[in-house]
Amino acid sequence: MRRHRYAKIIATLGPASSDAATIRTLFDEGADVFRFNFSHGSHAEHLARYEIVRAIEKETRRPIAVLADLQGPKLRIGKLADGSIELVNGEKLRLDLDSAPGTRERIPLPHPEVFAALAPGVQLLIDDGKMRFEVEEASKSVATARVTVGGKLSDRKGLSVVGAVLPMSAMTDKDRTDLAFALKMGADWIALSFVQRPEDLDEARAAAGRPVSLMTKLEKPSAVDRLEEIVARSDAVMIARGDLGVEMPPQKVPTIQRRVLRACRQAGKPVVVATQMLESMITTPTPTRAEASDVATAVYEGADAVMLSAESAAGRFPVEAVRMMNEIITEVERDAHYRRLLDAAHPEPEATVSDVICDALRRSAAILPVAALVTYTAAGKTSLRAARERPAAPIISLTPDLATARRLALVWGVHPVVVRNIERLSEVVNRAFEVTAGEGFAKPGDTIALTGGMPFGVSGGTNLLRIEQLPTATLPNP
Ligand code: PGA
Ligand code: MN
Repeated sequence: MRRHRYAKIIATLGPASSDAATIRTLFDEGADVFRFNFSHGSHAEHLARYEIVRAIEKETRRPIAVLADLQGPKLRIGKLADGSIELVNGEKLRLDLDSAPGTRERIPLPHPEVFAALAPGVQLLIDDGKMRFEVEEASKSVATARVTVGGKLSDRKGLSVVGAVLPMSAMTDKDRTDLAFALKMGADWIALSFVQRPEDLDEARAAAGRPVSLMTKLEKPSAVDRLEEIVARSDAVMIARGDLGVEMPPQKVPTIQRRVLRACRQAGKPVVVATQMLESMITTPTPTRAEASDVATAVYEGADAVMLSAESAAGRFPVEAVRMMNEIITEVERDAHYRRLLDAAHPEPEATVSDVICDALRRSAAILPVAALVTYTAAGKTSLRAARERPAAPIISLTPDLATARRLALVWGVHPVVVRNIERLSEVVNRAFEVTAGEGFAKPGDTIALTGGMPFGVSGGTNLLRIEQLPTATLPNP
């Protein structure tokens, strides 16, 4: 089984996509990665879906990536005496740490770490930005603020702090429990919400206690301010436009999206565009033209993957949403302009042997009619560098490591295949012939380019590029 596209699809699983038949259909229609959203559902529900995904993997013999998305901290105001208060523009407010129910005179904000960061000019956004307060004075336990956008403030509403870095971890106790559970379950990628600083990544790695592939959710302005450092410490990045669009005015989101995409493509880190991509398909069987265009834009910009959230997790048309995404991506990738854009944004190789080989791989696909590029990889590093080149042929990644193969399902253009350990170049060539022919990428007489490291069986030493033609004699079935 092969896909006829380069950009990947992530589908979030949830109540609308929990049974084996639906998840199988989502896979058949194009989902390469399944996202498990730990903001919702019990561990038992996640585990049941996980087992279905792994059963599909076994049936189809295609590695599937599982992305466990941790909720992160949620700041909330405290309880209010009458359940809600109507606030008008221009009104002055007092916020404090006192846990007594709030009144018009004072509102409880039970987060000392917020007070530690408040200063005049900091913006407090309530309920996904529906209301807005501007801080005028602040101490370690009390602040006064002016209502700049009023409305009905109700109990325990969510709060975002814009214009300050909060001295708090990106991980709550719940996140730590969920992380341990997700790793034990077998998740391939861990998405981390609410990252503010590069050190938040180190903390998550320490919490994992073993090597882990971390996807940073870019959703805080403070993270955008330190974008390059955060990308460098992440294994992948998600442009989480939901929270990003609350913390920043919506008109800033498109330019940030482009900036993050460029930074990730430069670094060779997989990058995902997420949230509200086909939002109207939660309730209707077709997207708006603007939504179709949003998915297309992400693909034109060279995103590794586009993501469905509620559309596939809780909407009425999960299967149609995946199918629509598949069709949009396919359409874009057929456009000659797509190739020109990718080539124009092509990042320069770094001064490493592996980049020299991967640059040559891309050039061979531009000069010759190459049917497939084959990388033999242990940890997937060469595949990432090859994908960074955004070459004009699919990248077949042969690896003896199932975990590597699953992780690579997220990556642009990569078709991972698990093979037994290979020790000789002639064996790599033979497996490359078998796999490219057997999985429908090449026919007898076609040219393929392949990479590996001599000596074989030693990780991290890609130093060889080989161009071969598939023999015309009948090939054994892989
Ligand atoms: P969430 O993340 O849905 O977990 O909040 C995505 C986003 O904020 O866009
Ligand atoms: Mn979010």
